[in-house]
Amino acid sequence: MKEFDYIIIGGGCAGLSLAYELEINEKLKDKTLAIIEPRQEYKRDKTWSFWKVVPHNFDDCIIKSWDNFSVNIPNKTNYLECKDYPYQSIDSGLFYEKINNKLKENKNIHFFKDLKEINTQNSFIFNSVPDIKKDYLNLWQHFCGVEIETENNIFDDEIFNLMDFDCDQRNSVHFFYTLPYSKNKALVETTWLSRMNDSSLKDYDFQIKEYIDKHLKIKNYKVLYREEGAIPLFYPKFKKEKNKINIGTAGGMTRLSTGYTFLNIQEHSRYIRKNIEKISINKKFEINKKYQFLDDIFLRVLNKNPEKMPNIFFNMFKTSPKTIIKFLSNKSNFYEDLKIIFKMPKGIFIKALFY
Ligand SMILES: Cc1cc2nc3c(=O)[nH]c(=O)nc-3n(C[C@H](O)[C@H](O)[C@H](O)COP(=O)(O)OP(=O)(O)OC[C@H]3O[C@@H](n4cnc5c(N)ncnc54)[C@H](O)[C@@H]3O)c2cc1C
Repeated sequence: MKEFDYIIIGGGCAGLSLAYELEINEKLKDKTLAIIEPRQEYKRDKTWSFWKVVPHNFDDCIIKSWDNFSVNIPNKTNYLECKDYPYQSIDSGLFYEKINNKLKENKNIHFFKDLKEINTQNSFIFNSVPDIKKDYLNLWQHFCGVEIETENNIFDDEIFNLMDFDCDQRNSVHFFYTLPYSKNKALVETTWLSRMNDSSLKDYDFQIKEYIDKHLKIKNYKVLYREEGAIPLFYPKFKKEKNKINIGTAGGMTRLSTGYTFLNIQEHSRYIRKNIEKISINKKFEINKKYQFLDDIFLRVLNKNPEKMPNIFFNMFKTSPKTIIKFLSNKSNFYEDLKIIFKMPKGIFIKALFY
């Protein structure tokens, strides 16, 4: 069986981002790489959005970028500007195509459907397949979105809506998220933060239809694309092994309070590329411990007090947009952290330390 210097298990966002980063920086000229990916074909299956706080390799895969956003609870809306850190949406279809076209040019890179097809003994492995066991204590961000096209121009595509809590909460945390790509096209998503133990929350198509009809007041539209997913708001199991590191969701790249993962994956890929020669002995790359600690408290509060979360989220966005964006994107300093912490209701957050 064939041997490779490097193996990437899972050719999704993290696996392909890493392969691309290594390839464009000429780290695969004299090294061989096997990518293990079972999917039959690559097609658009996700939309990755984030505030661009650091550069990335995929500016040409952006559907749209915004400088303004809003957050709202019933009868109150907060409008915020994000010119310094524009919010961007990436089309996964364009991302897969761009990377796969580039990787095809290098004869040292091979795709396989199953790890059993190759010899793994002497390779260094980057694994992006998470080890997740069902446990109804764990929280998830689960959602469904549809891209719609309307007959008339109705969207203001200068501003996107990050969180609209003016909807049925069903003893959970629920909001809608609307990304207007143009005046007649938008991605409308229903998002839940829950333990996923109540299947009645998953009538996504009904929720989206109701929201489009009654809230956005749109009657004539067609659905161009649909995506559904669930992001674990906990770290997947991790077993330390000498010649293996985990990447992507499996590697703890999700910010647990928000589900944002894409830019962390890009930063992790850059870190691996810079240290590839001594990666097995290098310090593990992880989301700063202070965010891990703060997110843990935040999620404990959310678990115990779902009904308070719309107001908590809304108040969090009353700090300057730059501060909150830096905080949510792991780039805030101590002074900025304090500004956010002071927006939180003290009692329930202090109590959460002792749950
Ligand atoms: C629908 C959706 C929308 C999201 N939107 C955002 C967003 O807007 N912003 C953001 O920051 N994050 C977002 N995320 C979270 C995160 O960025 C994505 O989940 C991202 O794809 C994670 O990358 P990954 O490589 O860890 O996992 P994936 O991209 O899922 O890649 C894992 C790969 O492993 C393959 N695989 C599965 N089993 C095996 C196996 N046994 N052997 C080998 N390969 C296997 C899969 O086919 C897949 O290609 C979203 C997640 C989802 C599901």
